[in-house]
Amino acid sequence: MIAKKPFEIARETLRQLTARKLAPTPINYQAIYNEVAGVATDPPFPTDRLRDIAQALPTKTPGQQKQRALLDSAIGQLNWDGVKSALMAYGGFSPPAADPATATPSTGLPMPGASAPGDVSAPALTFDFLQQMARLIEFTLPALGSDDARFNEQTQTLLKAMRQPGADVVALKLMLGSFSDRLSFAAEDQAEIKVTLLKLLHLIIENIGELSLDDRWLKGQIEALMTASTPPLTLRRLDDVERRLKDVIFKQTEAKGRALEAQEEMRQMLATFIERLSQMTESTSAYRGKLDDNARLIEQARTLAEIAPVLKEVVGATRTMAHDSLTARDELRGMREKAQSTEAELVKLHQELDRVSSQARHDPLTGALNRKGLEEAVNREVSNVRRKETPLCVALLDIDNFKKLNDALGHASGDVALAHLATVTREVMRPHDTLARYGGEEFVILMPDTALDNGIEAMTRLQRELTTRFFLAGTEKVLITFSAGVAQLATDETGQSAIKRADQAMYLAKRAGKNRVLGA
Ligand code: GH3
Ligand code: MG
Ligand code: MG
Repeated sequence: MIAKKPFEIARETLRQLTARKLAPTPINYQAIYNEVAGVATDPPFPTDRLRDIAQALPTKTPGQQKQRALLDSAIGQLNWDGVKSALMAYGGFSPPAADPATATPSTGLPMPGASAPGDVSAPALTFDFLQQMARLIEFTLPALGSDDARFNEQTQTLLKAMRQPGADVVALKLMLGSFSDRLSFAAEDQAEIKVTLLKLLHLIIENIGELSLDDRWLKGQIEALMTASTPPLTLRRLDDVERRLKDVIFKQTEAKGRALEAQEEMRQMLATFIERLSQMTESTSAYRGKLDDNARLIEQARTLAEIAPVLKEVVGATRTMAHDSLTARDELRGMREKAQSTEAELVKLHQELDRVSSQARHDPLTGALNRKGLEEAVNREVSNVRRKETPLCVALLDIDNFKKLNDALGHASGDVALAHLATVTREVMRPHDTLARYGGEEFVILMPDTALDNGIEAMTRLQRELTTRFFLAGTEKVLITFSAGVAQLATDETGQSAIKRADQAMYLAKRAGKNRVLGA
């Protein structure tokens, strides 16, 4: 085929525009021209559309404002890579490490001694300056802890990019912007952790002075503190311990008055007992003295008439003695009964305190949060979502055919099944997910930083894991399944409403044949 001459292509292009009834705009002309010339057509850069999108993005935080400016500049320069990086930074993802082969426009960093290439969007940063910044970032890290895996990963990527000679400055700027956002959240968290820790410490100190009644209390408190201070230190864990301690302290103050009263009663009873004992000893020795005297009189007596009054006295003394003994016996029996009931009351009181301290917000059978604990956890997570603009997923799961399991294997095995489900869930889900028992065989799982697809995936993973883990009912190996619904908290939605949507999706999962997970 002979190649067309440019004027022939132009003529054919105009003919086609007319034939196809297309408006003679530059874009249409270019597209048909390329088609006639047999040249690949690049889709036009949708500047206006992109500007619309940029306009709709929030600019509340300084980080968002910075990213918005970078996005605007990238659109102005028709730079797809810049648009991509800016949008990824908005979504909280670090842009991929700069690839010098594909980065456009090329804004390689000047090496020491070299001069910066002129680019309006990328002010010249020297290599040395970037190394200093990298060191500065590294120095701040220990103060922020190492619990947030995503943040750590992002930091390492950033440091690596900063230390690469000839790194892409535009990409670096975007990474720094998104890093500084995450840094501000992490710093806020650290500050809150410190305040909460200090509050906890004060609570403990306040309480230690009151702990002289029973060492078990002291032990329990110290154990709770130990648990709280074992890394990773998350606000969720500290919050949980603080609430537990408050419960314990409240109950303890209430119980202390009663325990003191009971101790005082016991002390008084002991004093009475000792007094009675000495009285008994006294009357016994008086009786013995009287018997000795009378025995002597009897020995000396020669006639029955002389013995009669002595006998009368012996009988009288014996009667008094017997009466005293009886009274003492009754009194002691009464005291013993009272002491026993006081002791039983104290034991009950302690058991109640132990129960309250460990179960105020937890379900005793499964160790999961109870409804009250869940309510608090939901409030905490929802306020985190509002603060950090991160997604939160709520799942509601219900064990399949649980009534049948109870009927076939007994209620006790049903209880084991519930505890088994909680154990497997805790092992499979991430440490910052929250498990709560919502009702009989229904559980709610809160998954922070999780969008709907990932939430459904996590629940499906749990479901798969359950099919490989049996529990024992006697010698029988039993497997359980569940149906679940997952909802992602919508903007301005309450936690309760998200749980309700998850419940409805769970119901649909049951209707669809059970043992499945559906999104709401
Ligand atoms: P489905 O698959 O449709 O969910 O049916 P199901 O049998 O699981 O549900 P249903 O609501 O009919 O029965 C739930 C049963 O759970 C009834 C109740 O006796 C039992 N249950 C509730 N709480 C407990 C508990 O703490 N221990 C035991 N062992 N059983 C419980
Ligand atoms: Mg149910
Ligand atoms: Mg059920």
